[in-house]
Amino acid sequence: MSAGTSPDTQLLEGGASCGIATLGVLGAGTMGAGIAQVALAAGLAVHLYDPQPAALTRAQDQIGKGLRKLCEKGRLSEDACQAAQTALTLASDLTALVNVEAVIEAVPEHLELKRQLLAELSRQLAPEALIATNTSSLSVTAIAAGLAQPERFVGLHFFNPVPLMTLVEVVRGDATSEAALARATALVRLLGKTPIACDDTPGFIVNRVARPFYGEALRLVGDHGAEPESVDAALTGALGFKMGPCALMDLIGLDVNLAVSTSVWQAFYEEPRFRPHPLQRQLVEAGRLGRKTGRGFYEHPSPAAPTPTEPAAPDRALHLAFVGRSVDLDAWARPLLAAGHRVQLFGESLAALPPGDWDGAFELGEADAPTRALRRAALAACLPGDAWIASDDLAVSATEIEVATGRAAWRCASWPAATDSPGAVEVAFPAHASEALQARVAALWQATGRTVVAVPDLPGLVGPRTLAMLVNEAAFAVEAGVAAPEAIDEAMRLGTGYPLGPLAWGDRVGPARVVALLNLLREAFGERYRPAPWLVRRAAVGWPLADAPASQRRWR
Ligand code: NAD
Repeated sequence: MSAGTSPDTQLLEGGASCGIATLGVLGAGTMGAGIAQVALAAGLAVHLYDPQPAALTRAQDQIGKGLRKLCEKGRLSEDACQAAQTALTLASDLTALVNVEAVIEAVPEHLELKRQLLAELSRQLAPEALIATNTSSLSVTAIAAGLAQPERFVGLHFFNPVPLMTLVEVVRGDATSEAALARATALVRLLGKTPIACDDTPGFIVNRVARPFYGEALRLVGDHGAEPESVDAALTGALGFKMGPCALMDLIGLDVNLAVSTSVWQAFYEEPRFRPHPLQRQLVEAGRLGRKTGRGFYEHPSPAAPTPTEPAAPDRALHLAFVGRSVDLDAWARPLLAAGHRVQLFGESLAALPPGDWDGAFELGEADAPTRALRRAALAACLPGDAWIASDDLAVSATEIEVATGRAAWRCASWPAATDSPGAVEVAFPAHASEALQARVAALWQATGRTVVAVPDLPGLVGPRTLAMLVNEAAFAVEAGVAAPEAIDEAMRLGTGYPLGPLAWGDRVGPARVVALLNLLREAFGERYRPAPWLVRRAAVGWPLADAPASQRRWR
């Protein structure tokens, strides 16, 4: 039994073992060293090849440190740690790898380099040896075109840092055999990772479906003057993402992120959904690459965050009306009730709403635009002159609502968060909103323990717009057969740390609502936002995007 593995991790679901005890790794850089480390920790013998002696010694040092850390954490015994370190062989000559049972290539991202190296190596390997590439942007099929036996070639896309990231995309090239796929899948499990099978399409699953997370943030900041802090806070505080897109681009490196964006855009023949934004190139050209250069969207190290304020009891109980029908009504009304306000729900009919001492009214719901406008006009007639109207209408601006109703107005993004009690509310104020209105709204939410994140007064706001585009890209990937819906959701959770898969999140919002917002965004901003036909079809019949019952499982 190899160190650090259990019998389970050596088996495929069907019970087949991958039969790999000796692994070759080509390239001793960031990814090669990480892959070698997890293979050693799993008990494999590893031959690590790199033409640069300095890269080999650096990798050996890094791997030693990584293994010792596992030992200190009690995840590897002292004996297994020693054994793992002696199971590493450094090689500056390719012939040292002739007897390995599998090879994972992690050399620089150049098609010709990879093709030539693998063609040379494959001539020396046993015919049954598995060959894999860790490419993140090249076509697995294109790399395999130089091989005598392309059927034994597969993509194994690991994520950085390899020891921490559990996802590996197992990419089926045009000629990849079922046996090679099964063996590669078993190898991934043996390494303690989660394999997700996908087709050989640009960006595979994660690097494709995640593009709008960055792309929408760049447009909001670059085209509409949003503050990176607000975009990040709307997505983390109000929706529950662990990190906002601007902070994440700073962490990844704006240059690395731009390279992936550009490569996916080019691979899709300049499809507008993937078009990189000039702001990103400008930041890269200015040397603002993120944490590694001390500055990107933010300064690094960042100044200490202000201490969150405790919820303050409201000065007095406000009298608040809720009109409209919305699945999220409860989530909006309950915290305000719990904070001590007087809350009354009126549903879709305003007949019962008496004119009176209202402080404010929420107009929430899914009616069409003219109905909502009429509802707000009727509502305004029942409110005193100093009351406000809050609406979750994604189509109209707060300024329009204010002008049409003659009441102070603000908008709120009401799409469901991944967490039950989000820490922030995304809000848009009209142009020239008074400080008094902003203070009233801040105090209203502060009493419920939430902060207010003010964002530009745009169609779709920040959270719904970003989420709709993530759902849409996942739907396009399903339609293209990149992977099944559940596999896409799992890959996104593991590969990006999203709290929910985009398709499951789309089901929470409601597919029809996602399609409606995409159509609205398309009208406002162009073709980039056209909804995926698969999403439109499922929304039309009311079928879920993820976890569909057996009768609705035909997913393309
Ligand atoms: P890297 O630059 O850190 O390492 C590449 C290594 O390959 C270097 O040590 C270099 O000396 C070596 N090398 C150069 N020519 C070689 C040759 N002919 N034979 C063997 N080794 C050679 O690169 P990296 O970030 O580890 O990326 C490697 C691969 O992994 C690329 O295909 C990349 O797209 C992919 N990838 C990278 C990441 C990431 O976040 N860095 C994530 C997933 C996949």
